[in-house]
Amino acid sequence: MQRRARAWRGENLRVAFVPTMGYLHAGHLSLVRRARQRAGAAGRVVVSIYVNPTQFGPNEDLSRYPRDFARDSRLCRAAGVDVLFAPADGEMYPAGEAGPYSTYVVEETLSRGMEGSSRPTHFRGVTTVVAKLFNLVLPDVAVFGAKDFQQASVIRKMVRDLNFPVRVEVAPTHREADGLAMSSRNKYLTPEQRAQAVVLSQAWRRAREIVAQGAVPVPVLQAELADFIAARPGARLDYIEIFDPETLAPLAQAAPGARLALAVFFGKTRLIDNETI
Ligand code: AMP
Repeated sequence: MQRRARAWRGENLRVAFVPTMGYLHAGHLSLVRRARQRAGAAGRVVVSIYVNPTQFGPNEDLSRYPRDFARDSRLCRAAGVDVLFAPADGEMYPAGEAGPYSTYVVEETLSRGMEGSSRPTHFRGVTTVVAKLFNLVLPDVAVFGAKDFQQASVIRKMVRDLNFPVRVEVAPTHREADGLAMSSRNKYLTPEQRAQAVVLSQAWRRAREIVAQGAVPVPVLQAELADFIAARPGARLDYIEIFDPETLAPLAQAAPGARLALAVFFGKTRLIDNETI
């Protein structure tokens, strides 16, 4: 991958990159379209598919994470992707002569709350794998989804702090007709859970309506939305946070322009969503 990327750079070809964990859906493909726009017709678009073990906690869904490489490969070909990069675990985290893999990238501020609280080792895995992928693919531009808003903020910060010569772009969340954010994990939902899962997008829409009437204290809004979610059979709230979209700092007052993020369990399946309210 790196040899190919260096050859492209030698030819002055623009490289746009979309890192994913595969089991591709229309949300991923919207990022691929954005990448093509940024690379231009003459440039190169790279998609990576790698279910990165270091970003999963010990009791998470690593082993059952959905995979369908043949289908992903067809979708990438149809979308005009130039290279589909799908490394194996042994290539990404090799145990060499000097012992096991032992170098990690850690962002220490933006990765603290929300997903970082619920999944303590998650962002260390994300920043490490994205740094590695950037060094392999050598992209000019990398496209991430707003679906994982905190992740995009953490990556942006890593790029700035470590001087990666990569422009990070964030594309909007692609949704099902009823508002559910597309996610590879939606596959885990039973039909009943799928019907209830619309509560995530209903929650931020409701928050948007409430703050449009005037600012409200965050604990009041959190309590109201927690009740709203608890009223759905099978839904168990993990967190709901209202924060500054630049610093990710929690806010005391919820007002238009704030960002809301939430995580809700349906059985073992954990879904996240976020939007500006
Ligand atoms: P994943 O394969 O879930 O790790 O996601 C790979 C990339 O696709 C990340 O940048 C995600 O934020 C992005 N992504 C996932 N779901 C969506 C969606 N529904 N809309 C837009 N981007 C998404």
